[in-house]
Amino acid sequence: MEIPNYLRRGYITPDELFSIIPRPSEERLRKRPVAIPECPQQIPCTPCKEICPVNAVMMDHPNDIPKVDYEKCIGCSLCVQVCPGLAFFMIHYVGDKARITMPYELLPLPEKGEEVILLNRVGEEVGKGKVLAIVPREKSKGDTPIITVEVPIELAWEVRAIKVVRK
Ligand code: SF4
Ligand code: SF4
Repeated sequence: MEIPNYLRRGYITPDELFSIIPRPSEERLRKRPVAIPECPQQIPCTPCKEICPVNAVMMDHPNDIPKVDYEKCIGCSLCVQVCPGLAFFMIHYVGDKARITMPYELLPLPEKGEEVILLNRVGEEVGKGKVLAIVPREKSKGDTPIITVEVPIELAWEVRAIKVVRK
């Protein structure tokens, strides 16, 4: 079996991601936060499916690539909190911004309202954003703190990490 390019190089582009899972509509992205699984490896792993309170994460077999029923998803963020692969995100379009909820395991944890540097999937700086919300480790249902960052809407599918800069 041929190994896909995104597994060889270690990150997946938005076009590659949406060739293996459905892309949520703009209407859905504006309604409320929606969970996006960026987990293209067929590994035996199911915490995201087990924690989902509305059975929105679809996997017939533990080795399947997780997909989300975007209409069922209530945007609770539990899948982001428990995913050991740091592979779940949530996106919400609000006006000309996007709110991205992502795992963040580094220290220091940013503070609410703090301006942070936005990084793409390769770790390159692509702009600045503002931290809107934090779920620290002690409140996370998994071992992973999560943060929600407001970014320019055109970066919604590029930004997947942040850098905290303290003077
Ligand atoms: S955000 Fe909540 S409702 Fe949506 S897929 Fe994740 S666990 Fe399920
Ligand atoms: S919990 Fe994370 S790593 Fe495991 S299957 Fe779900 S998305 Fe993939």
